[in-house]
Amino acid sequence: MTRIRGWCPSLYDPMASGDDLLVRVKPPLARLSAEQALVLAEAAGAAGNGRIELTQRANLQVRGLTAARLPGFVAALRGAGLADPDPGVERRRNLIPPPLPSPAAEALCRALEAVLAAAPAALPGKFGLALAEAAEPCPGADIMLRLAAGGVTLRLAGGEAVARSAAAEAPAAVARLIAALLDGPPGRMAQAVREQGAAALFARAGLTAGASPPPEEAPAGPPVGPSVGPSVGPSVGALAGGFGLGLPFGVMTVPALGELAALAAAEGDGSLRLTPWRSVLLPGVRRAAVPGLIDDPADPRLALRACPGSEGCASGRAPVRREALALLGLLRAPPPGLLHLSGCAKGCAHPGPAALVLVAEAPGRYALVRHGRAGDAPLAAGLSLAEAAARMEER
Ligand code: SF4
Repeated sequence: MTRIRGWCPSLYDPMASGDDLLVRVKPPLARLSAEQALVLAEAAGAAGNGRIELTQRANLQVRGLTAARLPGFVAALRGAGLADPDPGVERRRNLIPPPLPSPAAEALCRALEAVLAAAPAALPGKFGLALAEAAEPCPGADIMLRLAAGGVTLRLAGGEAVARSAAAEAPAAVARLIAALLDGPPGRMAQAVREQGAAALFARAGLTAGASPPPEEAPAGPPVGPSVGPSVGPSVGALAGGFGLGLPFGVMTVPALGELAALAAAEGDGSLRLTPWRSVLLPGVRRAAVPGLIDDPADPRLALRACPGSEGCASGRAPVRREALALLGLLRAPPPGLLHLSGCAKGCAHPGPAALVLVAEAPGRYALVRHGRAGDAPLAAGLSLAEAAARMEER
């Protein structure tokens, strides 16, 4: 099994990583029943490394699987309804839904899943859709849809233009946009937008692009700036529809997943909802505490993004998660926005811009980027953690 840059793992296509095999599980509509969560916890405990990761696409990842244990793991998850039987459909099933969808959003999600299932096999494995309720931030995706008064707005990755559609027409519009993408050179939507322009792609799909987002809507895209509290959408703490628990660095243990399942069954509606903001929502639960998970929306760890660095990646130049926690201890005030520590300039933990980015050069040494990405030119280099903390607090 070869690790290919840019390729996306699934349940049927494990990826070789430094930690044996990695598989990605895509619960339909980013939702698990308590029973499904227990099946996953048991299977991951038996076959994986004891930890489960939650990705920015609201998928789950299990690492540490061996080739011998993989078939049993796949069979358990398929049996629990956590994967499509068709590997091609499973590969394309990339949709980030609202964590607590309204009936209209849920119906649209199901229609969009059908569009992805029926899409040509040539669709890139990383291609994905995201749908947001009108008042919520929309995660980044190739096509970003948002419910709006009287219909749906559509944006393309890398483009500012917005098109509108009636909700009932939106799935067909997405199918035409996929056809327009596949009609051009191979690549993702952002590349097509760069090369052809969003307005041209919309036009080929029979849609008319507006020059800018309608004024009543917030711009779509990954949340940047304050990452703690309700400004990033339903995430952590007491919420209108339940309770959210955050996963530090997007990781939870197998026992923690078991506890979430027990809480959902005993106090909630029996389901767990995965968010792209690295949290799990328990609808109907009023208060929850699970060891190792974040239940306080003011917890500064919610502002952190960090890859494993040298503790899990051959390209990592420092143990960035440990050093990120050490850095928090040096700050006199919470970070003024999203704080991204990256093991190298690739920036896997947060490909989008962040208020502050520290890129590891060596253990304990970082380059600083403000309001940018890990690959951007740094303002300063060779900073110790204490020096980085002091520079970060400069306004
Ligand atoms: S950012 Fe670099 S060190 Fe971190 S996971 Fe990606 S490739 Fe590895």
